[in-house]
Amino acid sequence: MNHRVALVTGGLGGIGTQICRRLAGDGLRVIAADLATDAARRQGFFDALAGLDVHVETVDVSSYDDCAALVQRIEATHGPIDVLINGAGITRDASFRKMTQEQWNAVLGVNLDSAFNLCKQVVDGMCERGRGRIVNISSIVGQAGAFGQVNYAAAKAGMHGLTMALAREVARKGVTVNSISPGYIQTAMTAAIPDEVRNQMIANIPMGRMGQPDDIAQAVAFLCSDAASYLTGVNLPVNGGLFISF
Ligand code: NAP
Repeated sequence: MNHRVALVTGGLGGIGTQICRRLAGDGLRVIAADLATDAARRQGFFDALAGLDVHVETVDVSSYDDCAALVQRIEATHGPIDVLINGAGITRDASFRKMTQEQWNAVLGVNLDSAFNLCKQVVDGMCERGRGRIVNISSIVGQAGAFGQVNYAAAKAGMHGLTMALAREVARKGVTVNSISPGYIQTAMTAAIPDEVRNQMIANIPMGRMGQPDDIAQAVAFLCSDAASYLTGVNLPVNGGLFISF
């Protein structure tokens, strides 16, 4: 097995599919892992990425045992995982005063526990082989907060905390760990936002438009490329200028 293997969680989602396309286009064998992988959804994915070396697996990223079983299956079939993209994410919005514990737990489970669950499965092997790339898809909301998203902001900020600390632990082993913080990207997740709110958000973006999934996928591909071998612990904002900081 001489191909490099990438695991992309949320790989059938809006941003995830485009990440799969880019990484497979760069010559990696890509395993897209997602919660709902019914036949119609798989077919749509394979049709969209026809000709590329892509595969689909089912996983609930909030379950440690599910993640362990997923990685065992992938490694038995395709070989060791060289690249992990933690891209699965959900929102369960409510103002803090109305937010239920269920909404909090659901978002922390899928958006933050997932990064622990999957990094745990792949980090030892990456360190032993002396190479590996991990990219965590965080969010501008983790940097700046957003009304009604205390759960999401906490999970995404926590994800970057994990990134910074893990990056330090594995840097000498040839493994890089970075985050990307998208701004507002045109996918099913943002389609769920009411038009009036979305238009207001767009008006606040210096570039005057939402991003496209490929804006994120290109950044992921860069962080996974040899050109980024000296970058680790970084949070790369891709947001059209919506949040500019050091
Ligand atoms: P999306 O189209 O909804 O994709 C998210 C994917 O994650 C979906 O395929 C979803 O599957 C999957 N997923 C949800 N729960 C899961 C679970 N328990 N186990 C495995 N997979 C699960 O959203 P997106 O916009 O592409 O978002 C991708 C990532 O970017 C997310 O982490 C999101 O937080 C982040 N992000 C997005 C934006 C944006 O503006 N779109 C901005 C900042 C950050 P189902 O469809 O079956 O639920």
